[in-house]
Amino acid sequence: MKIHHLNCLQISTPLMDDVPGHCILLEQNGKLVLLDAGIGLLDTLNPENRLGIELINQVGFRFNENRTAYRQIQQLGLDPANVTDIIVSHLDPDHIGGLADFPTANIHIAQEELDNFYSGNPRYLLHQLAHSNQVISYPVAEHKWFDWEARKVETAIEAAIYLIPLFGHTHGHCGIAVQQSSHCFFYTGDAFYLQVELTDPDHGVNELAKLRADDDLTRQVTLEKIKQFHLKQPGIPIFAYHDSSTVFPIIRKLELTETEAFKQVIDLFEEVFQMKDFVLPPADYLQELLKKDGFYVFAAFDERGRVIGGLTAYTLLQYYSVKPLVYIFDLAVKESLQRRGTGSKLVEATKQYCKSIGVEEVFVQADRIDDYALQFYRKTGGIEEDVVHFYYPVQ
Ligand SMILES: [Zn+2]
Repeated sequence: MKIHHLNCLQISTPLMDDVPGHCILLEQNGKLVLLDAGIGLLDTLNPENRLGIELINQVGFRFNENRTAYRQIQQLGLDPANVTDIIVSHLDPDHIGGLADFPTANIHIAQEELDNFYSGNPRYLLHQLAHSNQVISYPVAEHKWFDWEARKVETAIEAAIYLIPLFGHTHGHCGIAVQQSSHCFFYTGDAFYLQVELTDPDHGVNELAKLRADDDLTRQVTLEKIKQFHLKQPGIPIFAYHDSSTVFPIIRKLELTETEAFKQVIDLFEEVFQMKDFVLPPADYLQELLKKDGFYVFAAFDERGRVIGGLTAYTLLQYYSVKPLVYIFDLAVKESLQRRGTGSKLVEATKQYCKSIGVEEVFVQADRIDDYALQFYRKTGGIEEDVVHFYYPVQ
């Protein structure tokens, strides 16, 4: 099973300019399962009709088609028609605008949340569920996931997926636990907004959480339980919908066709290395290079899908061994975002990839006077060799 992290929302508040909506896409054998749906295409086409001007202003919604799950699934080279199931934490408008884009998908939701939705609670927009094909609701269950009540969700993919009641934010708000072999994660929706709430009870965002809760006392009990769980099970990643800081930047090796992202990586090198009079080679040349065996580009993408870091590497075939060496040629992180671990993640991703394809060793060079680079490579586990690099200009 592949897990894709998407940001399907943009909210602008006085405190934060770009509040994300972290949806998770599970991919297995061509089938797709989405956790929460973010804003949808219809919202971006006709926001005032879909959400109403009052709600748009109150929440601070911004609309961008590329933020919809539908478009991001397409950008991943996948077919949105293959979304078979959408599991929903709760039915607030910023979580389910995208449901309408997947009319054949089954919607899974806690029974209490569905009851709350149709109870006249003014926080909901009833037409947001009107498009959906089949809504499957889940009542109280006997099953447990760790100490949590767990309602097993049947989807088209093979993974144990549970709705976990995390009531308070809304009367039927649930988290979603996903377990496949030894991997698992806990998606907590809006049980808390920011990861910092797990460690700092006085954080200002708590006031907003209080205001938005259907039942604040229950919300606080839920939050306490999540904190205890997180302490006991630090190895299980917890993802909150409005805090993507633990997920982004996403590091991945570029696909052979991602010339546009490759160009962004080169632009970043140009900026960070302060290259003068640089002229970008033609697009078809870059496209061919990207397709070559033994050339790799790794990129770090932020929650807006922009490249904020990059690494390029080449394979050297050996004759002392059948295992190749890989040479990291360039590595850079956007200057304003340095010292936050993105560079280390790029190196780590490269090492992991090289290990998976049977590479013997990864190596890199740094200027002696570049203390920052030297420190960085030492810190990321690089072993130093005292060599001097010469070159012969031939043109
Ligand atoms: Zn929300």
